[in-house]
Amino acid sequence: MSYDVQRIRADFPILNEKVRGKRLAYLDNAATTQKPRAVIDTISRYYETSNANVHRAVHELAERATTQYEGARDRIAQFFNAQREEVVFTRGTTEAINLVAYSFLRPLLKEGDEILVTGMEHHSNIVPWQLIAAERGAKVVAAPVLDDGALDLDGWRALLNERTRFIAVVQVSNTLGTVNPVAEIIAEAKRRDIPVLVDGAQAVAHLKVDFAALGADFYTLSAHKLYGPTGFGCLLGKKARLDAMPPWHGGGDMIRTVSFSGSTWAEPPYRFEAGTPDMAGAIGLAAAIDYVEAIGLDAITAHEHALLEYATPQLHAIKGLRLIGTAPGKGGILSFVLEGADAQDVGSILDMQGVAVRTGHHCTMPLMARFGVSATVRASLACYNSEEDIGQLAAALNKAIQLLR
Ligand code: PLP
Repeated sequence: MSYDVQRIRADFPILNEKVRGKRLAYLDNAATTQKPRAVIDTISRYYETSNANVHRAVHELAERATTQYEGARDRIAQFFNAQREEVVFTRGTTEAINLVAYSFLRPLLKEGDEILVTGMEHHSNIVPWQLIAAERGAKVVAAPVLDDGALDLDGWRALLNERTRFIAVVQVSNTLGTVNPVAEIIAEAKRRDIPVLVDGAQAVAHLKVDFAALGADFYTLSAHKLYGPTGFGCLLGKKARLDAMPPWHGGGDMIRTVSFSGSTWAEPPYRFEAGTPDMAGAIGLAAAIDYVEAIGLDAITAHEHALLEYATPQLHAIKGLRLIGTAPGKGGILSFVLEGADAQDVGSILDMQGVAVRTGHHCTMPLMARFGVSATVRASLACYNSEEDIGQLAAALNKAIQLLR
């Protein structure tokens, strides 16, 4: 069956919005994706028919809410090929990484230890490690990035040593689109018995992720980058790792018993889920997964790849445009600068033409420094983007050049 992008676009009500009086070309998907009607309706239906607090009551609505919420955990586990006990609900990738930093690594970290990341990490995969490293006299070390935006794997290997206590790596760079060789990284880490976290925030909407086969100790994701709601995400953690980890937030739902002489903890994943959870978030993510699977993740990957191939020469043809991130096999992200033009100004002119892109450092300031720029313009693709969106982007860029030169 061929990929019918118009049919897919029709599933996303917001794509009919006019912005600045123009057709919307939404190309800010790496920041957040739009939501299909199926996800919006599932969340509304939950509030209209089933809302109650989960786990702690016998009444019918609580039972419905709990069934849907825990059913969502099963669905998410199945999609990522994880056990349901390995799926910890969080507010997103950022919280999932902080959970690992504070609950798993902090107690193990000693003076002189090193946490190995890469030079293309999002701030959320740098700063939590810096916070705990500073407390313990440890340090965060970053592997180099090559000129085309690929990870320098030899450079990464050269930084591994007996002080390396933990490895964190982004699977797909939000700024460059680079797809990192995480399987090789995990294999090398395993040989040395070093735990690994993979930041999958930009991967899950574009690549099939099999947590069991991948072999990472931890994997993080955000629902809103996978056509689901904001403020919800998951930490996937190997059961043996989670079992050995202490709680990091205290409160309701994460305990087995509480007394003033001491409390005991629930089993994972509940040990890490203190307080009333985001039921609609979990149910919304499960609906988003249903939506993606109905199209087929492989079909989405192929569509985005074809669109990237369509867009790249068009951008290359624009005089003075420099693409940053051209690694082989990269995903659907086009980051660039226009000679002599401020990225913010370019973004504003694109906006006037109905083109939504992101401008700035994309929460990757070390990467900006590596490429000698302070900001880029970033167009990022999703399942509903079309050749028309790319045409609109190219036309708006030519307009920007006229206005800015
Ligand atoms: N990691 C990467 C690669 C990202 O692109 C993002 C968000 O842009 C994050 C982590 C943080 O995700 P969230 O803000 O949903 O926690």
